[in-house]
Parts: sequence; C-alpha cells; structure tokens
Amino acid sequence: MADAVLKNDGDNISMSNENQPIAVRETRALYQYEPLLWEKEQSDHSGTDWTAPDNFKNRTGQKQRETIGLPQVSEPEVMRHFVRLSSWNYSIDNGFFPLGSCTMKHNPRLNEKLARLPGFANIHPLQRAEDVQGALGLMYELQNWIAELTGLPSVCLTPAAGAHGELAGMMTIKRAHDLNNDTARKYVLVPDSAHGTNPATAVMCGYETRTIVTKETGRIPVEAFKEALYKTDPKGADIAGMMVTNPNTCGLFENDICELADLLHEAGGYFYCDGANFNALVGKIRPGDFGVDVMHLNLHKTFSTPHGGGGPGSGPICVADSLAPYVPSPLIVKESDDSYRLEENGERETSLGRLKGYQGQFGMHVRALSYMMSHGSDGLKRVSEDAVLHANYVLACLQDDYHVPYAGPCMHECLLSDKTQKETGVTTMDIAKTLVEHGMHPMTVYFPLVVNGAMLIEPTETESKENIDRFITVMKSIATDARAGDTAKFHDYPISAPRKRLDEVKAAREPKLRWKETA
Ligand SMILES: *Cc1c(COP(=O)(O)O)cnc(C)c1O
Repeated sequence: MADAVLKNDGDNISMSNENQPIAVRETRALYQYEPLLWEKEQSDHSGTDWTAPDNFKNRTGQKQRETIGLPQVSEPEVMRHFVRLSSWNYSIDNGFFPLGSCTMKHNPRLNEKLARLPGFANIHPLQRAEDVQGALGLMYELQNWIAELTGLPSVCLTPAAGAHGELAGMMTIKRAHDLNNDTARKYVLVPDSAHGTNPATAVMCGYETRTIVTKETGRIPVEAFKEALYKTDPKGADIAGMMVTNPNTCGLFENDICELADLLHEAGGYFYCDGANFNALVGKIRPGDFGVDVMHLNLHKTFSTPHGGGGPGSGPICVADSLAPYVPSPLIVKESDDSYRLEENGERETSLGRLKGYQGQFGMHVRALSYMMSHGSDGLKRVSEDAVLHANYVLACLQDDYHVPYAGPCMHECLLSDKTQKETGVTTMDIAKTLVEHGMHPMTVYFPLVVNGAMLIEPTETESKENIDRFITVMKSIATDARAGDTAKFHDYPISAPRKRLDEVKAAREPKLRWKETA
C-alpha cells in the first residue's frame, strides 16, 4: 500500500492526503477518505466481477453491453460512499453546537418514537377528515398549547420554516391594513441587529424598511425609535408595523418593549415579533403580554424538532385577536367535543388564503406537541431558565478573556467579540476554525452585524456543565496563547478535519459548481 503522509505534530495526528493520487489517499483509523463517485477508477466491470482474461471470447453472440459512463460501483460501494461522507458531517448528535440564534439543542428520541406511530406516520394528506380525527385533534391541541404559551390566541400551523412564518405574519399585517383601507402605510421599522430575514420579508411584502440604530447599547433606544416612527408623519400614520426579535440578536431583552409597543399601537402599526429566540422566554413570560400582535415560532428551535437534514422546519404563527380574521388558512376547526376539520378554502373571507399545500409539516407538529406535553408547564419554564443560566455561565467565565460589547446579564445567548485578540492577529475566523480542530462546532460568527468580529454563543438548555466547561477551557486556551504570542498555528486550523482550512474568499469568488474530469 502506498503511504499517505501521516503528520504528527504533538497532539494532532492528521492525514495529509491532498497531494496524493486518488488511488493512494488512504483511510486510517476513523478517518475514512472518500473521493467523488466519479473520481473512483473507471473500469469495465463492477462489484465482485473481475476483468475478463486476455483472449476471452464471448460465445453467446449477444451484443456486449457498452459502458455509458456511469461510475462502476456496486451496492456495498455506494453504501460506503454515502455513509463515509455522512461521517464527515458534524451534528448535534456528535458534539457541542453553540450556534447563536439557531438553538441547536438535543432532539429528544421520545418525539421520534411518537412521530413513527403508524397512526401518525402512515396517514395521507388527502384522507377524509372523518378518517384522520386523531391527527386533526393533535393539531388542535398544538394550536392550544401555542396560544397558551404565547398569549396569542389564534394560531396557524402551516408555515414551513421561520422565514416562511415571517412571510405569513407580515402578509397578515398587510391584509389587515388593506382590508381596513389603510393603504398609506408603507414603512416597517427594523433594528439594525435584526436577522436578515426580517427586512427581506418586509420588502417582499411591498414595504420599505426604516432602520433603527441600536449599536450603542445593543437595545432599541426609545428616542431613536420615536424618531423613526414620526420621521415622515407626525402621528406615524405611514408606519405599517415593526419587526423586532426579543430577546434580540445581541442576546439582550428589550427592556423598553412595552413602551415601544404602546407607541407603535398608538400610531396604528402592528408589532411583529420574530419568535426564533422563544426558548429564552417560554414558560416564564408571554409575548402577547408585552404587546406583540403576531409572532412566528421555530418548532425546530424552541420545541426541539430537527433542523435541516433531520427533517423539515416548521414555523407556525400566532396572532392577537385584532389580527385573527386575516391569518392564512386552513386553521383546524373544532365542531363538537370530538370532531375536527380543516377550514375549507375561502371559508373565511378575510383570510389572506393559503401559503402552503395541505396542513403544514404534520410530523413536526407531532414532535413539538410531544416535547411540550413531556415537559409540562414546569418543565418548559425550566427550559428557559436553563437556557439563560447556561449562557450567563459562559459569559461570566469568558468575560475576562474576550471583549464583551454589551454588559450582561444576557438571555439565552452571549455575545463576545475578537477585539482583544485582534491586536495579536487572531480573529473571530481563527477562533472558529480552532474550535473545529477541537471537535466542536463554532459559534455564530460575524453576526449580528452591529458588532465587529461578533461571536454569538448559545450553549442551549440541553448541554451539561461538563460539556460547556470543555468549550470554555478551549476558548480560554485560545485567549492565553494569543496573549503569549503563540499565534501562528491559528491560521492553519483545522488541520485534522477532512478539508482542512478552506480558502473562503476563493470559494466565494470562484465557486466550482460542476465536476470536470481532469484526465
Ligand atoms: C433562525 C432564525 C430565523 C429563520 O428561521 P428559519 O427556520 O431558518 O427560516 C429568523 N430569525 C431569527 C432571529 C432566527 O434565529
């Protein structure tokens, strides 16, 4: 076997395969190299067949099958190909994942067990309502739990992600203004720390955004808010609404939120709350009580349904009574004690209509309700308490080593920056890559945009103190080495990951979207 180069630098043993011919890039220990299927050697046979001997004559007289350029791989080889690639993927099931704002927490297996019950897993969206009463009843129950937890009584389960929920919510606001002939309202107030989906959604709904600067304090200053509210009309009569995340993307609770909501309501605008960060509040306070008119929930964040590869997202919206007539259909209607149905198309004339086929991501509804019911009201309260405690623990342990742009306490995530390390040449990107070297997913980096070199850390409520401590130890060691000038290594990390340090600029400027044979 031709040897790949095994590099041993102290603690780090890594494969340096990149410059080897494909045939000798080797698998070692748990590191399993895998080329593209197309890069595997092309041959005239596949699987356990051997190449035909010289002078072999086909005596059947049949036409020989010609190669049509597909990779010659057998079932076990295909299996290994994809399983090996999947082992290069990092997930919440194999390590710490403190990605701020994303709430990468454990997805309890109880949820999975319930979603796989044949009565839930094997039904079809076109089945008659009479035949799927249990499923409709479950969705009705979920609507009720969401209404109870948020203080927003009308719930539409159909949106398929957070961003889709934002669209549903802002279209609901627009529908309300339109049906009230209040069409002069064309601005939506958005703080500069907002998630990018907020201004994008407002613009997609035909509004212009007006930015509120929060950079100084990390929170919306009441004066700046008033300035934006009354900028082009002394009564704010041209303001459609505001989109605010609370706690915001700096991990801070908006302390003046009630006053801001009152001012907005006086001006006739609606308050859209981006509820992606609801795991900081659930069971403790209800957004409906601080003036929210409409909010989406990320079931795949707060309520523990899988993100991405593990399943589709789900972003139900919940609204105050004032907006209830306008929400998308279909809602689940309870007809009598044990009879449910989906609203018919057009049944509620004021509704903005359908935004999604059928009834939404039913499998996620099962998982979310399973999570809520298995926690109960005391358990859900503990969720937010633990989320906030964990983030504050990280903040307290790291505040002497890293710059803290806005003093704590924080909510469910803490915000640091690379300001202290930058003088030593170590940046947020280097810190993130060093965490990869240590087998952890990095925190959210360079977001929110209001802080240079931002690092937004959300340990989540499901992480043990031991795991959080390991992260803190690594973060502290980075700060110590940076202070001591021991920095050269940071620019090469990760050296043990399959793809090493990527040239991100080149990847963005010269993306290779298609494989070409290099001969
Ligand atoms: C995750 C997130 C969203 C978007 O949710 P998706 O399900 O990814 O579309 C919106 N706002 C905030 C603050 C988020 O963290």
